[in-house]
Amino acid sequence: MSIPHVLAIPFPAQGHVIPLMEVSKRLVDRGIRVTFVNTDFVHKRVIDALTDKDFLGDSIHLVSIPDGLGPGEDRNDLGLLAEAMFQVMPGKLAELIRKTEEKEGEKITCVLADGSMEWALEVAHKMNIPKAAFWPASVALFASGLSIPKMISDGIINDEGVAIKHQKFQLAPGMPDMSPANLTWACIGDVATQKIIFNVMVRVIKSMELADWFIGNTSCDLEPAALAFAHRVLPIGPLLANHHLDSSAGYFWPEDSDCLIWLDQQAPKSVIYVAFGSFTVFDQTQFQELALGLELSQRPFLWVVRPDTTEERDDAYPKGFKERISGRGKLVGWAPQQKVLAHPAIACFVSHCGWNSTMEGASNGIPFLCWPYFADQFIDENYICDLWRVGLGFNRDESGIIRREEIKRKVDQLLDDANFGKRASDIKEKLAKGIVEGGESHKNFSNFVQWMKAL
Ligand code: UDP
Repeated sequence: MSIPHVLAIPFPAQGHVIPLMEVSKRLVDRGIRVTFVNTDFVHKRVIDALTDKDFLGDSIHLVSIPDGLGPGEDRNDLGLLAEAMFQVMPGKLAELIRKTEEKEGEKITCVLADGSMEWALEVAHKMNIPKAAFWPASVALFASGLSIPKMISDGIINDEGVAIKHQKFQLAPGMPDMSPANLTWACIGDVATQKIIFNVMVRVIKSMELADWFIGNTSCDLEPAALAFAHRVLPIGPLLANHHLDSSAGYFWPEDSDCLIWLDQQAPKSVIYVAFGSFTVFDQTQFQELALGLELSQRPFLWVVRPDTTEERDDAYPKGFKERISGRGKLVGWAPQQKVLAHPAIACFVSHCGWNSTMEGASNGIPFLCWPYFADQFIDENYICDLWRVGLGFNRDESGIIRREEIKRKVDQLLDDANFGKRASDIKEKLAKGIVEGGESHKNFSNFVQWMKAL
């Protein structure tokens, strides 16, 4: 019997590539071959960030196809990117599948596509290839997409996704509060981008029917109500790096591992870890206020400042800041975040609440300070603060800035109240049980693999 061969296609963003790569590595652990299809642009970043120690073996083959944008176009403009991809990528993907099958002399067993790329499922459908969708965000986000027709008929949004009402609402008891202005598509970019993303969401939800399997990086312990609402999604998370392949392939920036050595020198549960994922950018005032807040906290901190975090390249920090915090504060361009969050020195996580960061913090029992930036991060904040009660949000002043005093106040409030840490530890324990033999996520993944092997 031949070895099953999966073609995995992530959406070209860091928070999508990492978890699908984790799924791929788990598939390899179970004896399945994977061809991992990035866009040319992402492929180059992934290859450039690889180091000698990154090992993928023969089982994951990294390939790429064009995303439809020109070399200088802004790939952080998600509307522009989504439209270009939709025009160009289906044809390129079909061609790639044909060529791969010709070369290998056998069929692709299954296309495993990011749930936000319904067109990839359609390509597979037309080519008669079994197909699975992978949802890397919260199921609450998916449920909000499922509810679009109802939200329109209830007069909450119009048929372009724009908020008509402003009161918060819940899709079902036990699900996060949503406010019409904070629906995912309503907090991405300008009005034109919001319309595009809304339409993508509508398309995504419609074509999900096509997927033979629908797996998600979540857990029934974290999202029981959302999973009951959107019952097609089978949780297989949290997808932390616990497979046999020792590789950080899939990361867009090379990681600075020195910070782990620095963490070794810090007292247990003393360090504030500050990281905002791959998209968040700050204007100069907010960036400086954050720096001064960390300084004011008087606690050790590890702060990830990506090279593109602010527009100001040379002198983004407050005057004298680096000298004053030297020894107590560590700045890095990109951290090995999963290892950082698992380190005993970490006390709390100042996070933008991207779903991966949320899952990683929760799996390590770390309490949060929530600083959502865009898209679904407001839903995740609601989970963290109101449903799991393992974190606090920040208040902004009248000009929309989170001030240094507010940062210090919330750090103290979080760390002085042992209940946050206690609840976070309880969640960590539950999540750990879900991914080992006998746990729900483990069982779902095993069934998925069995299905694939029987194709
Ligand atoms: N990440 C990392 N090092 C960093 C910052 C982030 O490895 O310094 C990883 C993080 O562990 C997570 C991903 O990048 O897996 C970010 O995904 P998330 O969904 O949290 O945010 P996004 O980048 O999509 O906004």
